[in-house]
Amino acid sequence: MRLFIAINFNAETRSRLVTLRDELRSDSTKGRFSAPENLHLTLVFLGECNEKQAASAKAAMDAVEFKPFTINIGSVGRFRRSGGDIWWAGVNDSLQLIILYNKLTKKLTEFGFQIEKRKFSPHITLGREIITKASPRRFKEFGQTIDKIELMKSERIAGKLTYTAIHDTKAYSSP
Ligand code: ATP
Ligand code: MG
Repeated sequence: MRLFIAINFNAETRSRLVTLRDELRSDSTKGRFSAPENLHLTLVFLGECNEKQAASAKAAMDAVEFKPFTINIGSVGRFRRSGGDIWWAGVNDSLQLIILYNKLTKKLTEFGFQIEKRKFSPHITLGREIITKASPRRFKEFGQTIDKIELMKSERIAGKLTYTAIHDTKAYSSP
């Protein structure tokens, strides 16, 4: 199974992201745009895993402690690609998010995963293979509290890209 660890969003954040996606789409002549239910922030891409590795991923997640924190989304940008760019909503700098990422990758490494060394650049993909007249921009941020991370299975079901949460680890809330 193909796995990744992600932050998923509440209905309000999702709907704001869909608005960003729709604005981008209306400025574009080409692109594959993310389905609303697929909008997410990838923390770590694990790739193809067997049952044992999936169990390790769950254990690694559960060994990470974090408190609820806020993330803010305040920009739209792109990764240049030949044949059409990847466009994303950008997450404003968040020390708590970086700390969570660092704790998670450390645990995953202890559990035998090889994590890519590439710098973590938190983003929410709005679409791929996009040709557009839009420009990267900043806007007044919107945000939400993050209180869990989820292990996601990625698969094609009847041709449709489908993500399913198969495990979650909750932030601890002090009394
Ligand atoms: P598709 O590949 O069908 O266009 P997708 O990229 O959303 O769709 P997956 O390839 O299963 O689906 O990826 C799941 C998540 O992991 C996505 O957020 C994707 O951007 C991210 N991801 C995929 N491959 C990598 C990789 N090699 N390195 C880092 N992140 C990745
Ligand atoms: Mg992919």
